[in-house]
Amino acid sequence: MASAAVSGIAAENPPLKPDAAERLVHLARCVEKERTLLDFPKRNWVVPHRSEDGQPILNVLIVGAGQAGLAIAFALLRDHVDRVLCIDMMPEGQEGPWLSIARMITLRTPKELTGPDLGLPSLSFQRWYVAQFGEQAWQDLFQIPRTEWVRYLRWVREVTRIPVQNGTRLDRIVPAGGCLAAEITATSGAERLLARKIVLATGMEGGGEWYTPEIMRAVPKRFWAHSSEPIDFSAVQDKRIAVLGAAASAMDNAAMALEHGARAVDQYCRRTQIQSIQPYKWAAFPGFTRHIGEMDDLWRWRFLSYFLDLREPFTQDAWERVSRFPNYRMVVGEPWQSVAVESEELVIRTSKGVAHADFIICGTGVTVDHRVRPELGAFAHNIATWHDNFRPPAGEENPRLSLFPYLSPSFCYTERVPGTTPELANIHCFNFATTLSFGPSGAAIRPMKHLVPKFARALTRDLFRDDIEQHWSDFRGYQGREFDAFPF
Ligand SMILES: Cc1cc2nc3c(=O)[nH]c(=O)nc-3n(C[C@H](O)[C@H](O)[C@H](O)COP(=O)(O)OP(=O)(O)OC[C@H]3O[C@@H](n4cnc5c(N)ncnc54)[C@H](O)[C@@H]3O)c2cc1C
Repeated sequence: MASAAVSGIAAENPPLKPDAAERLVHLARCVEKERTLLDFPKRNWVVPHRSEDGQPILNVLIVGAGQAGLAIAFALLRDHVDRVLCIDMMPEGQEGPWLSIARMITLRTPKELTGPDLGLPSLSFQRWYVAQFGEQAWQDLFQIPRTEWVRYLRWVREVTRIPVQNGTRLDRIVPAGGCLAAEITATSGAERLLARKIVLATGMEGGGEWYTPEIMRAVPKRFWAHSSEPIDFSAVQDKRIAVLGAAASAMDNAAMALEHGARAVDQYCRRTQIQSIQPYKWAAFPGFTRHIGEMDDLWRWRFLSYFLDLREPFTQDAWERVSRFPNYRMVVGEPWQSVAVESEELVIRTSKGVAHADFIICGTGVTVDHRVRPELGAFAHNIATWHDNFRPPAGEENPRLSLFPYLSPSFCYTERVPGTTPELANIHCFNFATTLSFGPSGAAIRPMKHLVPKFARALTRDLFRDDIEQHWSDFRGYQGREFDAFPF
């Protein structure tokens, strides 16, 4: 049943304004005006670096051209950092989860959120939406339709002129004589890109992998899929589907199965009570978002351990989407103990009995573990984790979090044994693995407004500091006189 199929259901849009195209062109001009208005000082300032054999070195290579990668690149361009390139393994327009594995109809976040705009009003989602559908449509809008968020991100990329190379996968980062080499596979074949800094803006699974419980490993793959995989929902018709997990994505997959004619969908929640608290909502204030990463380890651990244990609850509208089906059932407080295939049928043994199904969808989230990331293979042995650096007080242990990387104030990986892999100081993490060190940041929309500028500042600080001697020499050689002749 797992096969290539995009998430099909889209919200219906209100009618486009007859002059929507012209209004968008006008809006793009407004973006340009606002950008120019605030564009002082204007000069590129990062000292150009070349390799020993004269090859140009990128200042920053950003891996991932989802919303985070684009916003980081835009922040750097606005700070006149040149030689910035974004790469993404997906074709243009297909970046991120939105058109593949995101199976909700609208975003789960409030429609008013800002982020990729970096403070330019005309670049906000709201202005973009109003330009096409009008003010009343915005007032009437409940949440942002998932497919409109993708179209918006494409527009942001276009009007900000962010340099992106699609169809380009980062395979591995290796040291390269004082800088980093990104071994990539592009449409033209294997290549190496040299960069001073590499940013991993690689999304939810970018710090590890999608998590599959051990009990599923021996089950033949034709009987199950992870919610992060392509699923051919046309094949669920008349089938009994068991969904493992009760967080947001699990619920979206249950809804998809029901809407595609499943005979029954049973969704299993391990906990005795369904988690309905949205931690991102509580955390969405500047004090926490911007500064939790500056607090001491104990406070970071305490807040984020609690935050990450809450997970992402499903929304009210997701609940309404499934609960209108009489053949849907939420089974609470019934963890699975084993899964087996008997006579072409799945037999699920739970803490309370035995259940049967034809197909399982695991909505079981992600784990963070840098050791499984091929791009970090050359450094993995020396990446410091929270477990290496911090011992929680008795009663506050949380083994699930021990492999989160212990990041530096520049969002870089740090060394377990100092001095043996100094290149880690130039590999910056802005994916889900950033969360324990900096709070909600990578792989989330709400914190972008505060965390993308903070992250970009960390990059510019490093780029300035690492060339401080050259800047000192430039300053002393500076001849930009304010006037030509002293009048007296
Ligand atoms: C199913 C789902 C639903 C979500 N719904 C919401 C929501 O409603 N509201 C909300 O606020 N947040 C939501 N999120 C969380 C978050 O906003 C998204 O994950 C969002 O896509 C994160 O943006 P990003 O740019 O950090 O990562 P992504 O959008 O995932 O972009 C990362 C990019 O990196 C690329 N990449 C990864 N590895 C490599 C490599 N080695 N080489 C080259 N390219 C690479 C990928 O192709 C991808 O395009 C959702 C997440 C998921 C998974």
